[in-house]
Amino acid sequence: MRVPHILLIVALAINTPSTHAAPLRAGISAIDVTPEIWPLNLVGSFSPRPSSSAHDPLHSRCTVLSDGKTTIAIVVVDNCLIKREVLDEAKQIASEKTGIATNHMMVSATHTHSAPTGHADENGTPEAQAYRKQLTAGIAESIIQAHASLQDAQVGYGGHDLADEVNNRRWFLQPNTMPMNPFGETTDIVKMNPGSKGLISPAGPIDPEVSVLSIRNKKGKPLCLLGNYSLHYVGGGPRGQMSADYFGEFSRLRISPTARTRKRFSRHHVQRHQR
Ligand SMILES: [Zn+2]
Repeated sequence: MRVPHILLIVALAINTPSTHAAPLRAGISAIDVTPEIWPLNLVGSFSPRPSSSAHDPLHSRCTVLSDGKTTIAIVVVDNCLIKREVLDEAKQIASEKTGIATNHMMVSATHTHSAPTGHADENGTPEAQAYRKQLTAGIAESIIQAHASLQDAQVGYGGHDLADEVNNRRWFLQPNTMPMNPFGETTDIVKMNPGSKGLISPAGPIDPEVSVLSIRNKKGKPLCLLGNYSLHYVGGGPRGQMSADYFGEFSRLRISPTARTRKRFSRHHVQRHQR
């Protein structure tokens, strides 16, 4: 189970009776970080993909948990990858407003291939540089708003293996069959998406578990469902349009505890094709 350590710490803390800790409190937020200034290039491809509109919104979503002594923030951003400098700046802004230590904040990107770069430097276009500022502010604001909405809460967690939907896409190949990589080199040890010829074995294991952390308010109303599944990427939105891809679809689901809903999710929202 490759759940981030911070989640394990949360889970263990919740299951350990304590005479000192205050009741668990939780706060949530979802800040729209869809670009405001266009055009922008979509990342996640080796060729340019200009975009001037969004198919669906991008968000920075945050969950803040506090037991009165320790407060943590878990942020999930609809982006492909974000450099540390951007996250450090966002965390610093949020820390100054909330008092949460920056090393108690964990920010991840969903890896959607249909978002703009979030870390353009002075060599980037003016639009891309503007998006870096918007994204930095959006991540910080998601932590600030989640912290401001802290309320008494209950939490539970669980997991279930769903191995059919994942595979290791990096393979060892037969000697002298390694094709040229996009950088013109043939020195790679393993090949990503190798096709069907010359395969020896996958380069590593898969993590089949769908794990969830479910948070409800004191009366049992769902506040947040944080899910973890080691699937690279599933997309397929309209060409040239921003999208949160399947992660956005997951977030729009209103998941009920009925088996019928779980089946529907599995069948329609986790596609088999991977890129
Ligand atoms: Zn990718």
